[in-house]
Amino acid sequence: MKIGFIGLGNMGAPMAANLIKAGHEVTGFDVAGVTVEGAANAGSAAEAASGQDAVITMLPNGEILRSVYAEIVAAGSKGSVFIDCSTVDVDSARAAHELAAANGLLSVDAPVSGGVGGAAAGTLTFMAGGSDEAFSRAAPLFEIMGQKAVHCGAAGAGQSAKICNNMLLGISMIGACEAFALAEKLGLSAQSLFDVVSTSSGSCWSVNTYCPVPGVGPQSPADNGYKPGFAAELMLKDLKLSQQAAESVSAQTPMGARATELYDGFVAGEGKGRDFSAMIEKLK
Ligand code: NAD
Repeated sequence: MKIGFIGLGNMGAPMAANLIKAGHEVTGFDVAGVTVEGAANAGSAAEAASGQDAVITMLPNGEILRSVYAEIVAAGSKGSVFIDCSTVDVDSARAAHELAAANGLLSVDAPVSGGVGGAAAGTLTFMAGGSDEAFSRAAPLFEIMGQKAVHCGAAGAGQSAKICNNMLLGISMIGACEAFALAEKLGLSAQSLFDVVSTSSGSCWSVNTYCPVPGVGPQSPADNGYKPGFAAELMLKDLKLSQQAAESVSAQTPMGARATELYDGFVAGEGKGRDFSAMIEKLK
């Protein structure tokens, strides 16, 4: 396929590289002038989007997504599929779908889970929203860039799934940190708590796979000085998106709200530039 790729940052560049490796013809554009080996370089987002079978965006936020879509939808070829993999607010995702539809394009919101490591290894999970036709057109590309793609529903459903998942993750990580910090004060070793929790009703990804205590459980950022991994700033971004979405539909998310406050304070202080599991040090 001929693919335009807009936004070649930490995530976009390795995703584009995997598409090239699989034999696709990629034209890239990034305002910062970043290039990817093997891709043709466009001089603008509109140029990257012009004449392609698929156009993928991997951008920082909803405001930038809206401005890029305003520029590229008119350049898209009728019937081509526009896939946005950025994490953005649900309203911006839906606005992007509307712009695409008004220009005769298929579109999918497809945020990812798996981070920079998953982008490089081609093992991302895609959470997708859009029509069946749009999803099935995008699916072969998801297969290259990821290991799983879930079609969650109509326009915006991918972003909705992403923020619900990450709100739960933020809450569960704080819970894991609280439990290990309390155990320490009670004189209980972290290893003993891990051995119990990881096979008991408190088990969860934040404990079993990504334990916030060094030397316990599988390798995680805790074993690497809390170097991200998944940066606290990105967790805060997703928590804020969850609260924005909750407010827009009058959903009660008291734990999500508290997790947002805690990560807000953490990122403003000692958490900046660190993995989100370093929250345990703040709680200690
Ligand atoms: P990044 O900041 O490294 O990359 C974003 C890129 O977009 C930058 O290179 C920037 O120059 C470019 N850009 C900004 N405005 C542009 C424009 N108008 N036109 C073209 N390019 C433009 O961010 P990232 O870590 O690659 O994340 C991208 C998206 O993926 C974000 O929405 C993020 O929330 C999401 N995400 C990131 C991770 C992660 O671990 N990094 C994990 C899951 C999801």
